Amino acid sequence: MIIDFHTHTFPDNIAAPTLDKLKHLSHTHPFTDGTGSGLEASMSAAGVDYSLVLPVATSVRQVAHINDASAQLNQTGRKLLSLGCMHPDYPDWKHELDRIAALGLKGIKLHPVYQGVDFDDPRCLRILERCGELDLLVVTHAGLDVGYPDKRNVTPAMIRRAVDQTGPVRLVLAHMGGWRCWDEAEQLLADTGVFLDTAFSLGELTPLGDGYYGPADLKLMERETFLRMVRTFGAHRVLFGTDSPWGGQAEELARLRSVGLEADELDAILGGNAQKLLGI
Ligand SMILES: [Zn+2]
Repeated sequence: MIIDFHTHTFPDNIAAPTLDKLKHLSHTHPFTDGTGSGLEASMSAAGVDYSLVLPVATSVRQVAHINDASAQLNQTGRKLLSLGCMHPDYPDWKHELDRIAALGLKGIKLHPVYQGVDFDDPRCLRILERCGELDLLVVTHAGLDVGYPDKRNVTPAMIRRAVDQTGPVRLVLAHMGGWRCWDEAEQLLADTGVFLDTAFSLGELTPLGDGYYGPADLKLMERETFLRMVRTFGAHRVLFGTDSPWGGQAEELARLRSVGLEADELDAILGGNAQKLLGI
């Protein structure tokens, strides 16, 4: 089974303008039209069985509405599964986390860069703590963000401090533990229980073609570094993710299949680990 653990979709009526805005912010080229059906078309073409949609609340006003829509998506029987969301400034965060669990959502996505809060801030720590108690997964953006390269809200050092201060929680770090902070992630996080997703790690960025990036800016993680990190953390803690629409599912699958992993490592990363985490 192949599960893409890191995807994004937008409501049909705002997908086109949202994608247009985000592609100019990141100067990268999207691989789908950003809608749910666009993602499903990509999944059929690539041979992906399930995609996990990670909604980001960029303001407190969106939280309850996104969680309701995510729960509804999960009722449709489509091969798109959505997590819920939380904003660290949400006033009644505790009640909303209880509601997320009651709605049957498997966890939440945090994006400290877009939410303007540091990951080791008490507003995030209390959410991690409560998600652990409710057995909700927490998936967070980690490291730098391609759209805001100067913002450092979720570095491996901050993640380490957060993990050390909170009770057990199943925590998934996007982008191999910290986008473009990979040495630090490897040094500081390998002896924790965190999971990593592979989104935006191997290979290269796909530039928008607006001349913003030079060739050296496009390079991401080296093959050797990727393999070493998988083996340092253990393949059972690594999850295939593409960040679709910002990564192509077929392209990322091909990269992962040719990177030099053993067959059992590949099976675990492509779907086995996600199956267990999501109870599929
Ligand atoms: Zn993402």
